[in-house]
Amino acid sequence: MNFTQFNLDSRLMQGIQKAGYETATPIQEAAIPAAVRGRDIIGTAQTGTGKTAAFVLPILNKLLTTGQRHTPRALIVTPTRELAEQINDVIRQLSAGTKLRSVTIYGGVGANPQITALRNGAEIIVACPGRLLDLIAQGHAKMKDIEILVLDEADRMFDMGFLPDVRRIVKAVPEKRQTMMFSATFPADVELLAAQALKQPQKIAMGISRPAYTVTHALYPVPPHLKSPLLLELLKRTDTDSVLIFTRTKYRAQKVSQQILRAGFKVTSLHGDRSQGQRQSALKGFKDGTHPIMVATDIAARGLDVESISHVINYDMPDTADAYIHRIGRTGRAQRTGDAFTLVTDEDKDMIRILERIMGGAIKRETLEGFDYTTAAPPRSPNASRGRGAPREDSRRPPRPAPTPKSYGRNRLAPRKSR
Ligand code: AMP
Repeated sequence: MNFTQFNLDSRLMQGIQKAGYETATPIQEAAIPAAVRGRDIIGTAQTGTGKTAAFVLPILNKLLTTGQRHTPRALIVTPTRELAEQINDVIRQLSAGTKLRSVTIYGGVGANPQITALRNGAEIIVACPGRLLDLIAQGHAKMKDIEILVLDEADRMFDMGFLPDVRRIVKAVPEKRQTMMFSATFPADVELLAAQALKQPQKIAMGISRPAYTVTHALYPVPPHLKSPLLLELLKRTDTDSVLIFTRTKYRAQKVSQQILRAGFKVTSLHGDRSQGQRQSALKGFKDGTHPIMVATDIAARGLDVESISHVINYDMPDTADAYIHRIGRTGRAQRTGDAFTLVTDEDKDMIRILERIMGGAIKRETLEGFDYTTAAPPRSPNASRGRGAPREDSRRPPRPAPTPKSYGRNRLAPRKSR
């Protein structure tokens, strides 16, 4: 479907053209007409589907065609600063032909520029919950004219413990409003929030059951102590553009990035132990190609939109299928192809079974030819497949709960009954 069919204000067509969008993605096709008509929307969409423009375009259209200027009229609430900046980039790009203004609001940086942007009359606020509540309490962020509220990545906000703050924000905006909520999964608390915050929403489900089809998946079975050597070998042998590597902990992200650096690669890292400035420069370096490899934790990399990620490598298998889908959503975006490699150990068998069930078939196992999988193998215990006394590569690694049918159910990745 072509964007002209949405009857959007002509000033928006410039931005759409500049962004290089030719045809609407399926979520845009489903969401934009309903949102332009003023309907509440619940979108089940993972990142990489074009969901940001699906809510940004209807917002811009409404602000351009109705109501007053120079007061906040649209509020987008999102879990991380990186995501807030990314959404704001899309707003800037698509609103280039208009005089609409937007501001990002999040903690970890000075509040003054944010307060100034609000005072200067920004119409759109893109915010993380904590700082926004501060600025509301101090009277800097005025909620009385908010007409459109977007709750983005609601499941992530729940995971990060933000739902109480989000409920406060929902209470702070006028009851008469349009609300759009996007979430890749719907745990019970998010369902409840949806029931409270939305009115007769149109439900739009996209790409929930499987990761993006443009991604090829491969598992690399490896003993835990050989993960790093195997990773380095993979990096040497694979023709990559930019590679995003996930580890389970901040400590491991730091350690793995140092190992990669020592092997002579240009690498950066993104995790919670880095300052906001370091995170911003890591992201910038990764986006502009200065550091073609970035090692990150799930939280730090949530929702990242980097256009040309060719490979996602899971140094550690994520704890839930949901997290796997989110990680893999960073590659193969918007019809591009990408590869996802996961280093797997005996511990990961249950999660592999879950992933294969979701993907409807076996994921291929790969072995790297010439790589010595027998090097310095830890002594085998006769009692267990992964001997209890066997040395761990990372003694600081927290114990991981075994994936259970409950977590599978919570992730809602199985085919669902109608809601
Ligand atoms: P999102 O799911 O919003 O994170 O978007 C993922 C990527 O798809 C971003 O890099 C967008 O610029 C891109 N994108 C969004 N809509 C379109 C479209 N209609 N055509 C091509 N690319 C798009």
